[in-house]
Amino acid sequence: MTLHIRFDNSYARLPDRFFARQAPTPVARPALLALNAPLAESLGLDPAALAGPEGVAVLAGNALPDGAEPIAQAYAGHQFGGWVPQLGDGRAILLGEVVASDGTRYDIQLKGAGPTPFSRRGDGRAWLGPVLREYIVSEAMAALGVPTTRALAAVASGEEVLRETALPGAVLARVASSHIRVGTFQFFAARGDNEALSLLAQHVIARHYPQAAGALDLLNAAVAGQARLIAQWMGLGFIHGVMNTDNAHVGGVTIDYGPCAFLDAYHPAKVFSSIDQYGRYAYANQPQIAVWNMAQFASCLLPLIAPDRNTAIEAATESVNKFDQLYEYAWLSTFRAKLGLARAEAADAALIQALLDRMAALGADFTRTFRGLADGTARAEFAEPEAWDSWQTDWTARLAREGRSPAEAAAAAARANPGVIPRNHRIEQAIAAAVAGDFAPFHRLNAALARPFDPAPEDAALAAGPAADEAVRRTFCGT
Ligand code: AMP
Ligand code: MG
Repeated sequence: MTLHIRFDNSYARLPDRFFARQAPTPVARPALLALNAPLAESLGLDPAALAGPEGVAVLAGNALPDGAEPIAQAYAGHQFGGWVPQLGDGRAILLGEVVASDGTRYDIQLKGAGPTPFSRRGDGRAWLGPVLREYIVSEAMAALGVPTTRALAAVASGEEVLRETALPGAVLARVASSHIRVGTFQFFAARGDNEALSLLAQHVIARHYPQAAGALDLLNAAVAGQARLIAQWMGLGFIHGVMNTDNAHVGGVTIDYGPCAFLDAYHPAKVFSSIDQYGRYAYANQPQIAVWNMAQFASCLLPLIAPDRNTAIEAATESVNKFDQLYEYAWLSTFRAKLGLARAEAADAALIQALLDRMAALGADFTRTFRGLADGTARAEFAEPEAWDSWQTDWTARLAREGRSPAEAAAAAARANPGVIPRNHRIEQAIAAAVAGDFAPFHRLNAALARPFDPAPEDAALAAGPAADEAVRRTFCGT
């Protein structure tokens, strides 16, 4: 079975200063760990060919398929607010782009494929843990309907990587509608390279916002995309963990799953990431951080928005300022749906907030409480059930005004509130088992996460919250 990939590499046709040409570094003994056959098919790739020796060699970076033009993309970024003029793909190599059956252009990238000119002091590799974590969480997000990069395959390298200890190495084949970040624009803006900015803006418009007429439209669309995306994250209790501008996708796509985590017990100030000492990227801070990131994007686009700087600043400021309203609208729509509501009422924000406040005060599980609105089990999530009872009275009255029967409301809530999410303790258990050579928990978790709104009875254990001794308090970067 020969592997045939119809590459059409538009990014590699941009000027040389956008990237470094860099082939993946082969690994010792590649072995396929997971292959996403439906995704492969949607890209016009034959899953059987990908799973064969030639395909696995490509997925590991040991062979280059015809038409690939491997590059490491250049970008900069603000990390925890601190400016870094050059980051770039230090452990990821873009093989090229394919146009899928839906007409969308997708990058195929290998993460952990060896050093590049942007590796700085890193080894360009990844260990199994973050590869499986990104595989699980990005595919779960896709099944939950959140724009995200996807996982095409995971391959064991047969090599060890050195972190605090020696760990098994792996490569993730990642697919995305692009890997262009706010930091990609910042890279050129910081160098005063307006020609590159203009080419990059045209590239992003063609790929993500074909209806946009120019840089201001592009900014408006990116701001709207971020507002919708962050509202989806909030609705799922998702904490990205490292919302640096180099991890902020300009196409409104979730990218770079590192120390990300889903809430178990709800608290707005929750932080999991071990490196986020001051809680900059806490759950409830995510909308504000998105605005900050969009302001950085806006400042990069100024020379393209208008020749006069003050005129450009005025237009860009207005665009970024629209975030709050767009976010508020998206957040309300998201949480109304979670409450099983179809129509809008002025007091809905207060009703939603009242539930969240009670959940925070009593440490109720985020996912189970909302799913409980559909299943009739929410009360059990509250250590003091009276807190639920008083809210339920208001909710029931609100549903009655909607003219929806309790059964209709429950059915609507079941479509908006997943039963199964990638719980931190389940991810860690799957990784620990995989490191010990047992991939069954990883595959079982992926299978359950593929149908989050319709969990099978046998997935009840995966829908449960962590026992006290299972709860994960810290998550780590994906290096
Ligand atoms: P991230 O944590 O994915 O946001 O990565 C931040 C920066 O560090 C990016 O430029 C990465 O390419 C780089 N980086 C992370 N891990 C490694 C590694 N193992 N080797 C080389 N570069 C890395
Ligand atoms: Mg990153």
